[in-house]
Amino acid sequence: MTQPSLFDDLEAAAEVPVEHPLLDVRRIWAEPAAAASPRGRQVLARFPAAEVVEVASHWAVPELHGNAGNVDRWVRVKTENLVLGVKKSIATRENGRSANWIAPSTANGCAMACAYCYVPRRKGYANPITVFTNIDQITAHLRRHVAKLGPKPEPDQCDPAAWVYDIGENGDCSVDAVVSDNVADLVATFAELPTAKASFATKWVNRSLLDLDPRGRTRIRFSVMPDVDARLLDIRTSRVADRIAAADDFVAAGYEVHLNLSPVVLREGWEADWTALLQQLSDVLAPATRDQAAAEVIMLTHNEALHEVNLGWHPQAEAALWRPDLQEPKVSQNGQVNVRYRADVKRAAVARLRALVAQHAPWLTVRYAF
Ligand code: SF4
Repeated sequence: MTQPSLFDDLEAAAEVPVEHPLLDVRRIWAEPAAAASPRGRQVLARFPAAEVVEVASHWAVPELHGNAGNVDRWVRVKTENLVLGVKKSIATRENGRSANWIAPSTANGCAMACAYCYVPRRKGYANPITVFTNIDQITAHLRRHVAKLGPKPEPDQCDPAAWVYDIGENGDCSVDAVVSDNVADLVATFAELPTAKASFATKWVNRSLLDLDPRGRTRIRFSVMPDVDARLLDIRTSRVADRIAAADDFVAAGYEVHLNLSPVVLREGWEADWTALLQQLSDVLAPATRDQAAAEVIMLTHNEALHEVNLGWHPQAEAALWRPDLQEPKVSQNGQVNVRYRADVKRAAVARLRALVAQHAPWLTVRYAF
């Protein structure tokens, strides 16, 4: 596919080529309409050295599949490929746990490679980032959805006053924001919606997000876990200490900053390490950050198919993640066999973690734990 001339497109021509440790993009698999759109041209301009390969559908890129069990190949596929598509079905789904609503995704896939990642692997196990270029349709849909709901009638655990929309269900918005302005457009959209908030979890610190103007209407949930777990399981992410160190800056820039205590991995010594992490949060975070913070606690859920794949490249991770002595199977709605900690184990661990929070980070409200 021939790239559109950048001289015909002043906005795209103003883009600065991306230099980023997670993205050395060599190929962009693009639906023609996506590549020709303003957002598509922006992505092409950010990666001018990439070869553009036309595809009929962003779903059907067989070259990106395979590589299960070979993490070096996964990581290369993640680093070197992007996909551009037009999102066909634009719908908001009800949630009620982390957020009230799940917004239509503006991207899927991820450049990071956490061993427990439950984000659907739509482009094979490597699952590189797909950007949806019809962002204007998505933000218009969201504005209509928020308007139709009107003000939130009563507080709930998602938020005391605003309807909360998760905008990052299928990836990590902090890295997506490097690839395109979709996240910036979502932040700007919610900045104008006084009855709603955007929300996304992240394991990457993207300081360019500090230049946006969220006006309190975007909640960033920095995921944290003991560093010893993260070094084993969080592949290619920002270090936990860096995520914690960024929190004050994001609050100062007008974001709401919450914490995801997740996933909680039960292993020998977990209570001592979570205690140290909670103490670190209490020591490091500024009073302004602590005053507005809240947390989700999410116990590890794992998956049999992922377990098999991980054994091929990261057996040490599986020693921590796959614990048949503590876990029980659960068939999820999509028919996958997931495993979670046995009900009695989980109940006791959640109660213990809540007690640790109350003792070592009493300023931190636990919104929910499961
Ligand atoms: S950062 Fe999130 S989406 Fe990306 S691999 Fe890790 S868990 Fe999955």
